[in-house]
Amino acid sequence: MKNAQAKKFKRHTITSALPYANGPIHIGHLAGVYVPADIYARYLRLKGEDVLFIGGSDEHGVPITIKARQQGVSPQEIVDKYHTIIKDSFEKFGISFDVYSRTSSPIHHKTASGFFEKLYNNNEFIERTSEQYFDEATQHFLADRYITGTCPHCGYEKAYGDQCENCGTSLSPNDLIDPKSVLSGNKPVKKKTKHWYLPLDKYEPWLKEWILEGHKDDWKTNVYGQCKSWLDTGLHPRAVTRDLDWGVKVPVKGADGKVLYVWFDAPIGYISASREWSGKTGKDWEPYWKDESSRLIHFIGKDNIVFHCIIFPSMLKQEGSYILPDNVPAFEFMNLENDKISTSRNWAIWLHEYLEDFPGKEDVLRYVLTANAPETKDNDFTWKDFQTRNNSELLNIFGNFVNRTLILTQKYFDGKVPAANEFTEDDKAALEEIKSFPERIGSSLDNFRFREALTEMMALARLGNKYLTDAEPWKIFKTDVDRVQTILNVSLQICANLAILCEPFLPFTAKKLSDMLNLSGLTWKDGGNTSLLETGKQLNKAEYLFEKIEDAIIEAQVQKLLDTKKENAENEIKVKPAKENIGFDDFAKLDIRTGTIIEAEKVPKTKKLLKLKVDTGIDQRTVVSGIAEFYQAEKIIGQKVSILVNLAPKKLRGIDSNGMILMAEDKNGKLCFVSPTEDFNDGSEVR
Ligand SMILES: [Zn+2]
Repeated sequence: MKNAQAKKFKRHTITSALPYANGPIHIGHLAGVYVPADIYARYLRLKGEDVLFIGGSDEHGVPITIKARQQGVSPQEIVDKYHTIIKDSFEKFGISFDVYSRTSSPIHHKTASGFFEKLYNNNEFIERTSEQYFDEATQHFLADRYITGTCPHCGYEKAYGDQCENCGTSLSPNDLIDPKSVLSGNKPVKKKTKHWYLPLDKYEPWLKEWILEGHKDDWKTNVYGQCKSWLDTGLHPRAVTRDLDWGVKVPVKGADGKVLYVWFDAPIGYISASREWSGKTGKDWEPYWKDESSRLIHFIGKDNIVFHCIIFPSMLKQEGSYILPDNVPAFEFMNLENDKISTSRNWAIWLHEYLEDFPGKEDVLRYVLTANAPETKDNDFTWKDFQTRNNSELLNIFGNFVNRTLILTQKYFDGKVPAANEFTEDDKAALEEIKSFPERIGSSLDNFRFREALTEMMALARLGNKYLTDAEPWKIFKTDVDRVQTILNVSLQICANLAILCEPFLPFTAKKLSDMLNLSGLTWKDGGNTSLLETGKQLNKAEYLFEKIEDAIIEAQVQKLLDTKKENAENEIKVKPAKENIGFDDFAKLDIRTGTIIEAEKVPKTKKLLKLKVDTGIDQRTVVSGIAEFYQAEKIIGQKVSILVNLAPKKLRGIDSNGMILMAEDKNGKLCFVSPTEDFNDGSEVR
């Protein structure tokens, strides 16, 4: 990658993917987006650059409406709840947004709506009428996520209309076998609806030139590679509207009941947030988005690459007044204890819980997530590694060095900076090396290599720790005070450099350390200076920067995860082992037919029994079935079933039952009909 800072920019517009407001923030979000974005923003600010660091909650889209339905509350209540949790936890964790906005705000609706209108008036959209699934019972067009059915690739029965979560294949609702509406459980019908499409195919030549030629050398290989693969496959027009009642209303005639597709409106949220910031601060937002001397950077996870590298830039380009992203440093995913982080399985470390469990240890998590950042490949977070990195790196190296330096200065010189007398060769070498750190750390950060940058920062702490240990001032204090003065002066200058250069990574530690050293207002340019602390300066009382994390603390966290694992396992269906083999003749004795329930009533004075009349194609017969706990009699008339017709009759509660309806147990222990998925005639043999 070429050095990104080669071109000088006047200001930096840094966006971080808008977290989806249907759950709290976890370490995967932090490692993949917010920690690197924050490090970068802090680094630029320390260098005196003009930075606008933007965040906000993404509050539209179907999963939020589904969650609201499940909980029997309004979508607004869902997003209010999670927006508050997310915003609050980011603040406590030191993510230094200049503005943290939300897409349900009026200013966003206005901005997104205006953006759509401008493209619409420029005739940028294609209008298309297509047939989409519609739930007649609830009178709703069904968003992809509102349709479930069987995956045509792997047979998983709960695949969504946009994706099978079992095999990961992207689907369209038309691919699903036996589609069902999530709203009513009914089979949806096809109905005509009109939508607006962004003609991405039309922009393909421009996108190829802009990305494949223009950003070959400066975009990360994972990002460039994914874009190239999209472009090589060929782009298609993409609908930017949806039939849904939650979101930004489509601002044109004939679009009642339609909103902007969440992926059209969410990235515009960065612009809305900037306008909100402008209103609050009185500063002009437009140069950050419209001036060619501004640099736009999107921090995102790898699942958002297509939206930030292809779709949003196409929107910006067609709108015409905006700059395009200069870089999109997408990260891969962070796993947890060798398993994919999953909100639905509660397999995550939630930020708001971490902040409660580890008060004052914000920097430890920031450090561990950066040291293990999933920069170029997926990476793994383990509690053991968290403990080791705290105890053997932060505490033993960084903390230990700073603490020894300050305690010795306190003890020998009443906390006043001693003079540097005569430098030895070792002193000179150390002082010379200190000068190189701002450039070493900075050039890694300029190229979005955060792990490397952190390693360099820690190399400065290691240098200090080794210098002090080798010099052993405590052994010579009685014989050579002059020498001890010099050693502690050099050590203190290293501490002062650490206070500056660790700030992007460990902002809480930097603040504590600066306070102890009685320093303020230093910038990145002061880094490398070896006389930051003048002789005689009074230092403040030494405090511990880090503390040991004991095994018991880690064991408790591991136990929490084990409990989750156990809970998840209990929730999964227990599959019984297969029965003994039988011959084909045994099987052939079973006469199973397709049939239809034509009458149903509850058997009086029983809890479980329904008396059914079933058309088996052969005859109409009575069957008593133990499913009354799961089905209301009147609701199953017309239900297709499979029935064992040659089971010897049996009297149940005085009723002759002739045969048995085949049922299977679902996840929650509910009995479900094993019924033909296509339109069979009654009496067809199941074999
Ligand atoms: Zn599948």
